[in-house]
Amino acid sequence: MLDLPFDPLQRSDETESIVMREEKRLYHRFRPAPYYGGIATADAVGCSFLCAYCWNYFKNLNPSRFKDFYSSRQVASRLLNIARRKSFHLFRISGAEPILGTKSFEHLVEVIEIIFEKSPHSKFILETNGFYLGHRIDLTERLRFRNLNIRICLKGTDAESFELITGAKREFFEYPLRTLKALQDRGIRAWPALMRDLFSTEEIGQLKNALDAFRIKAELELEGLEAYPFVVENMKKRKVQIKY
Ligand code: SF4
Repeated sequence: MLDLPFDPLQRSDETESIVMREEKRLYHRFRPAPYYGGIATADAVGCSFLCAYCWNYFKNLNPSRFKDFYSSRQVASRLLNIARRKSFHLFRISGAEPILGTKSFEHLVEVIEIIFEKSPHSKFILETNGFYLGHRIDLTERLRFRNLNIRICLKGTDAESFELITGAKREFFEYPLRTLKALQDRGIRAWPALMRDLFSTEEIGQLKNALDAFRIKAELELEGLEAYPFVVENMKKRKVQIKY
């Protein structure tokens, strides 16, 4: 069992040591996914957070039960094969946090570089919780790719809801906001997203105020909860309510 709340920097570090073996990362499957109109998807394991609504909750709670490590070249090659077969032009890594530390960051950047080299007109959608880059702002400079779009999944509308939902200590609430600001300051396309179902309209207004305070100019994307039975059960255990 994991004690809550935890230090997400420590959890990132520990998780990276499990899911990275030299430059290879643990993945549990590769698939064509229907999102964004069709996207080649690599499902990884391991996250800095443990969100109450995570659809990969148990895999991220215990990533060490997976055994298949892939180099960035192997990941890119599997994704490119899926895209070729399905005539997709979009790519992503899902199910986990792609950036846990410098090793997983280098792995990710290499996957993106290989995909853009082999398929220059494609797009990569980087879905991240934005946490680690808020700690290492300097790394955002390395994400200057013409066809890279970065979706920062914010988890709370304030420090308290951030802690309740992610399990991470509340003092880290602003890290993803710092990341968004740094990306925008560098002209890198990035926008915030939030799980609509867990927040009242007033709370969403509060988050918009926080985004304004950081001078972040991007529309907040609102997504819907995938309420699998185990997700509802985990949310109940963690006392996270549906409010919308
Ligand atoms: S940040 Fe995403 S992958 Fe990580 S625990 Fe939360 S929902 Fe799951």
